[in-house]
Amino acid sequence: MSDNFRDAVIVTCMDRRLHQRPDGRNYVAEFALNKWLNAYLITRAGCILDLVHPKETGHYRSLIKDISIPASKGIKELFIIGHENCAAYPNYKLRMDEVDQHVLDVRRAREIIHSEFPKLDIYPHFAELEIGTKDIFIIKAA
Ligand SMILES: [Zn+2]
Repeated sequence: MSDNFRDAVIVTCMDRRLHQRPDGRNYVAEFALNKWLNAYLITRAGCILDLVHPKETGHYRSLIKDISIPASKGIKELFIIGHENCAAYPNYKLRMDEVDQHVLDVRRAREIIHSEFPKLDIYPHFAELEIGTKDIFIIKAA
């Protein structure tokens, strides 16, 4: 069965709502299983924020260094999963503005990672909150 899984990297946010929950939910793990990924998991505050809007250049290099480890092992696919209502991002008055900015950022991160690792296939995603909830995510390609 494990032969059907593909090696990959997932870069996502450290936000606890995306990962192992007390009630058993785990959105990132479900995503990996649904896509048959045997994934290295890189969790950062703000996902790819340190690539797109680094507060310090060291933050950028730190995330690139993390990606370089699985990339050096011949991993060919990388998935980015940004998410709505991210504490590392500023507060937005309009949900639409927040979603638009995140989608721009995960797409920009794809370009940045590609420039550093041209052999990786990179798939940006964004986890939207189900309307009216604060912790039910729907992960979509961005
Ligand atoms: Zn976050």
